[in-house]
Amino acid sequence: MAGPAALFMGSCSGHGAGSGSTHHPGLGGSVLPGCTMPPLDPKIVPKSVGLMNATTLWPPTPQRSATELARTVRINNIGPILDQDILVPHPTPTTHQVNYTGIPKVCSPGTVTNPAFWCTIGTAGGREPAVGHARKLFATVKTVFINGRRAGTFGDPFGDFSPAFPCTSVVTGSSPNVFIGLIRG
Ligand SMILES: [Zn+2]
Repeated sequence: MAGPAALFMGSCSGHGAGSGSTHHPGLGGSVLPGCTMPPLDPKIVPKSVGLMNATTLWPPTPQRSATELARTVRINNIGPILDQDILVPHPTPTTHQVNYTGIPKVCSPGTVTNPAFWCTIGTAGGREPAVGHARKLFATVKTVFINGRRAGTFGDPFGDFSPAFPCTSVVTGSSPNVFIGLIRG
């Protein structure tokens, strides 16, 4: 790929759809047994970001570095995002409903609202941390290096579908006039 240089500016694309759903019954499985439990019930079954994208919004979030940047190259006077750079986490504001049967205990069935991060697979005891999942740049350009690392470009992914880096955002904050990669003509 070639394209505008990825910079620490603007926001990522964001990913996912919808403004909440019912997770039990739903992506998490059937209605949970027993009495209603406070949010963050361990019985709630988390699902991958890829699946949760159907019901959960991770909105566009600023492309800021998670660590203090040491760059000797700037583009448009802004630090370029390079392969393997870690950005600040990507949180979701979405909530999902979880339903309980009230059976076999003698209690009323009910519905409890849970944060979507608790319903999502991630790195905090198997669930997404409350602060959101990590974002890491996976450069697609093979031949252009800055400070010894491959340069990021517009549209590069911020995840690799792994539990550690499940983000499905891509780079959108990028240079208006500096292009990287194989450019003909
Ligand atoms: Zn994300």
